[in-house]
Amino acid sequence: DNVSMIQEAGTLRCGVKFDVLGFGFRNPETGDIEGLDADLCRAIADSMGVEPEFVEAISANRIPFLQEDRVDIISSTMTRNEERLQEIDFSKIYYLAGQKILVKSDSPHQSVDDLVAAGVKVCSGQGSTSETNLRDKGVEEGNLVLFATYSEAAQALLDGRCDAVSTDDSILFGLAQQNEGLEVRGEAFTEEPLGIGIKKGKEDLVAFIDAVLDQMAANGRWAELYDMHIKPYTGDEAPEPPLDM
Ligand code: GLU
Repeated sequence: DNVSMIQEAGTLRCGVKFDVLGFGFRNPETGDIEGLDADLCRAIADSMGVEPEFVEAISANRIPFLQEDRVDIISSTMTRNEERLQEIDFSKIYYLAGQKILVKSDSPHQSVDDLVAAGVKVCSGQGSTSETNLRDKGVEEGNLVLFATYSEAAQALLDGRCDAVSTDDSILFGLAQQNEGLEVRGEAFTEEPLGIGIKKGKEDLVAFIDAVLDQMAANGRWAELYDMHIKPYTGDEAPEPPLDM
């Protein structure tokens, strides 16, 4: 089966982000990939008795990386939804995010509706649910500025090439932390349940990952990782793990 093939290879190849603080972030000093997504990959690899290998997976190449067998799993702030379930499988939900906006501290805009009403430019990630959600909210095509990564989107906001960045709050918190003068605003206007992506036809791998996630919820490891990686940015205590939603 698929799990024993990974065990024979000795390596679990995980597609993660390299520029998202708290989830998948390449520490410039050590080169280590840090964050919840990276540590979930480490925990799964550990349970298999193999080494994790991190491959940078940006929003737009997550599904292709699975379909082309470039990685075994995608642990890259990925929303599980019906549309994506047509193409790939997902684990249980390990984090519940929601879409918000990030603006400069002196911006008058408080919400996505303000941005639409003002007709200003909004930056986001190509191939993300955020992109689609912004269109659904009424952001016009000419005002939607898309980038391969969220660090590029934040740079564009700082440079004045757009008036806001909009994606998962969990990503925006890290960008606000990294860049002085940027702040997250408003209520979440979507639900983004994050799951681990797996190529279709690998039911044993999905079951293995779900069992690891259940175990991490039961033994407190999930809450420990939440406190280590997420709480520093949100200030929130670990909620109940959202696994069975
Ligand atoms: N969670 C959303 C998605 O999967 C936005 C974050 C991202 O692009 O990684 O598309």
